[in-house]
Amino acid sequence: MEARTASVVRGLLRIACLWAAAPVLAQPAPADLLLTGGRVYTFAWDEPALDGTPAANAPRSAAGFRPDAEAVAIRGDRIVFVGNAREAQAYRGPKTRVMDLGGATVVPGLVDSHTHVVGLGEAQSQVDLVGIATEAEAVERVAAFARGVPKGEWILGRGWDEGAWANHYPTQQLLSEGVPDHPVLLSGLHTFAVWGNRLALERARITRASTAPEGGTIVKDGSGEPTGILLDRATSLLIDAVPAPTEEQYKAFVLAGLTRMARDGYVAVHEAGADRKLMKALQSLDAGGRLPVRVYAMLAARDVDLCREWQRRGPDRENGRMLTTRSVKAFYDGALGSRGARLLDDYSDRPGHRGVSGTQYGFDQSLVADMMRAGFQIAVHAIGDAGNRETLDFIESVITRQPEARALRHRIEHAQVLHPDDVPRFARLGVIASMEPPHCVEDKGWAQARLGPERVKGAYAWRTLRLAGARLAFNSDLTGSDHDIFYGLHSAITRRDKHLQPPGGWYPEQRMTPEEAVRGYTTWNAYGASWEKESGMLAPGRWADITVMDIDPLVVGATDPDKLLRGSIRATIVAGRVAYAADTPGKARK
Ligand SMILES: [Zn+2]
Repeated sequence: MEARTASVVRGLLRIACLWAAAPVLAQPAPADLLLTGGRVYTFAWDEPALDGTPAANAPRSAAGFRPDAEAVAIRGDRIVFVGNAREAQAYRGPKTRVMDLGGATVVPGLVDSHTHVVGLGEAQSQVDLVGIATEAEAVERVAAFARGVPKGEWILGRGWDEGAWANHYPTQQLLSEGVPDHPVLLSGLHTFAVWGNRLALERARITRASTAPEGGTIVKDGSGEPTGILLDRATSLLIDAVPAPTEEQYKAFVLAGLTRMARDGYVAVHEAGADRKLMKALQSLDAGGRLPVRVYAMLAARDVDLCREWQRRGPDRENGRMLTTRSVKAFYDGALGSRGARLLDDYSDRPGHRGVSGTQYGFDQSLVADMMRAGFQIAVHAIGDAGNRETLDFIESVITRQPEARALRHRIEHAQVLHPDDVPRFARLGVIASMEPPHCVEDKGWAQARLGPERVKGAYAWRTLRLAGARLAFNSDLTGSDHDIFYGLHSAITRRDKHLQPPGGWYPEQRMTPEEAVRGYTTWNAYGASWEKESGMLAPGRWADITVMDIDPLVVGATDPDKLLRGSIRATIVAGRVAYAADTPGKARK
């Protein structure tokens, strides 16, 4: 700014300040939406210390955290006021929608920073057979679903228990009678069996003459007719007959997945690997004003052409209102469970084996480096200690040559197993460890077998990373894990699973405090998307992205954390719009 202009601006500012200080009693413009009667946590206080100790200005008494506001006023897509109930009344106009929260807890809007929403949406459009006890019950449920689907269209379902039903498999007969006009494909809970009706078998051309591929079975009756059940590798005979979703259907899956996230309290997702098809769907939904939650899209490095296009165009510099694209997702190694992750030494339960990584795993070093140079954040999937070391080496090599690339807040997705020497490098290189609290409690049954008693101490090591100054971001990697926020918080705070095992927590020294757990899904994820000036806390001027829940995670997380698993979402507000509200926002159903 030119010196003279600057001084004029300063003068104007001074006049504005004097004016603001005068005892003007003018009413503020009314809010569009007013939340009152809540236990509001603004998270506008300072970050906790690296060991989890709350900041001196955190709202606490000797008994622990207490809310630091009661009401939030929203105009358009922004928060205009946060404070007590009395002052909030000034924002109440004749057209203001008032939500009385009845003592529910309000936090900055939740963000899941690693999702795959298409799978979630696809599951929404299928018949859910999980927990169904009998064949008749399953047929009844599919028939009810079929009434809303045009004749001739495929109906997909999943979740009947092929293990429990193995001694008396169902057949196509009842299913064909109940659903005669739609081809039906019902996948078993463990994906080892599929069950189809007559029309599905016809479409797949499965007859008495069909033979199963090696490793599979077409179950046939006494007269040699296929019964409708296909096992193991033969399942593909039926699955491959289902046409790929049309562009419209695919877009509907994306929308259904995002809508489900809003229902479950999330105001935003970081979508981990969007190819051209998914970007097209997201852009189309965004253009139509139909995105129910914000999306921070990571381009899929495997879609090279798409990345090269974005490389020429450059990342979104400004935060989009609902869709922001400035990240690239790449894979460096595989998974620990299947022993695909790259380890520095042999797997403890398979001598001579260390997994694969890098180019061998399809990591396109030159593409990813080019995207970093073009101004994109990179988010690299790395699981094993070698996978993580090599990814850090790669990031370091790029930012050594181009120091400004460090500021892009690169991330390692999962950062699951770390050698102690590599832990301090996250802070040094400004790399975010993007991690899934549920993975720890889900993997604990076999992780130690893969890694042995020493290496396992560097696995899911949230506290170790924090103490070394690393920034964390928490997420579910849905649909791989349940994205339920109460499960996520419970995992982070207790390191116990849904069955509350082990009672003392698995390697409990790595636990997060309740405040850190909530920040992991709010403020820290805002940082991961470079949204921290717009979101992550409740304050005037910020995005009106808000989550209301029936349980206070800061209090319950400290006093009786297992109770978190019974929490429920009461309302989700995205960009000032009520994206979801339970019937009565304040009253819990459970
Ligand atoms: Zn993922």
